[in-house]
Amino acid sequence: MSVSINIDKVVKRFGNETVINGLSLNIKPGELFTLLGPSGCGKTTLLRMIIGFNSIEDGKIEIDNKVVNDIPVNKRKMGMVFQNYAIFPHMSVADNIAFGLKVNNLSKAEINKRMEDIMKVVRIEAHKSKKPDKLSGGQQQRVALARALVIHPKVLLMDEPLSNLDAKLRIEMRNAIKAIQQQVGITTVYVTHDQEEALAISDRIAVMNGGVIQQIGKPEDIYSRPSNLFVAQFIGTSNVIKGKIETDESGGVFVRLNENYKEKMDNLSEIKKGQEVIVAVRPQEFILVEDESSIKGVIESTMFLGLNTHYFVKLDTGEKVEVIQDAEANEIMPEGTRVHLKLKSKKINLFDSATEESLI
Ligand code: ATP
Repeated sequence: MSVSINIDKVVKRFGNETVINGLSLNIKPGELFTLLGPSGCGKTTLLRMIIGFNSIEDGKIEIDNKVVNDIPVNKRKMGMVFQNYAIFPHMSVADNIAFGLKVNNLSKAEINKRMEDIMKVVRIEAHKSKKPDKLSGGQQQRVALARALVIHPKVLLMDEPLSNLDAKLRIEMRNAIKAIQQQVGITTVYVTHDQEEALAISDRIAVMNGGVIQQIGKPEDIYSRPSNLFVAQFIGTSNVIKGKIETDESGGVFVRLNENYKEKMDNLSEIKKGQEVIVAVRPQEFILVEDESSIKGVIESTMFLGLNTHYFVKLDTGEKVEVIQDAEANEIMPEGTRVHLKLKSKKINLFDSATEESLI
């Protein structure tokens, strides 16, 4: 049975510094929930509060609707996987995995059954007699995962588990972790600063900054509808340019991007005529056109990546943007080319210039 995690207005202080100040979030049973944010934003601190390595100064954490604030780590029944695996170098794979079970008073038959089962789940049975130094980083991380899961924890916590792996293995292992997590169905809290990893692996993501949750949502919602400018810039690449809201006699609302280019907008929540806005545009949402009534600039550099070409364009306003063009665009334009840009669609985001909160 998977359990829920309810975090209610928790506070963490180290000395005089308040690292987490009244943070709340609810994680559903069986969910793979990611805490995502830049270094120092408090992700690890929150994870350590959930498992019990860190005290909670105020607020409460409930696992399966029971408050755990005062329950010690070893009674919380949680499994944790760290960046550096934390497996014992002198023990075989099997002994590493069995380690957590030996203190649990289980019968030999039960230990063996659990071991065989979990080694199949993480696909490490072929290496069970090897010592960790004979394993790849990905295999070592599978051992760490098996050791965390073999105790049948209520919750699995993972702190940057893929950071020590090379790029190719990281992608392979993130797919493996997602598949294993779904198979086992265990509620999982995953910490990373890597936005692509978070998008790929999570059911839902909490984006954090400065100990404060900026947005909680499914990966696709966070990517396409960031609730503020921080999220827009942290998740993927967003070009940021200044704009102004205009209206016409028939009630149409436009965002003006320069003196000769404006785009009609449909779904702005609150608008004021003349309001200054920040417009966030993904690089693939710009198109290069010959139209004079567009945004003008000059290509400063070009990067050909096979599938597409990235252009780094300095606009006449001085703002710099990145534009991604599909490979079909036959000719690669060199540095110095004058270009005209338009928005490909209305998949842009607008933020209030003062508050940086989304207006959509
Ligand atoms: P990273 O990705 O770099 O690990 P993070 O988001 O996990 O970053 P935390 O490790 O949670 O961030 O740290 C959040 C803040 O709390 C930082 O300013 C850090 O210096 C501070 N901090 C964390 N642990 C302690 C501690 N034991 N004593 C004092 N300050 C701490």
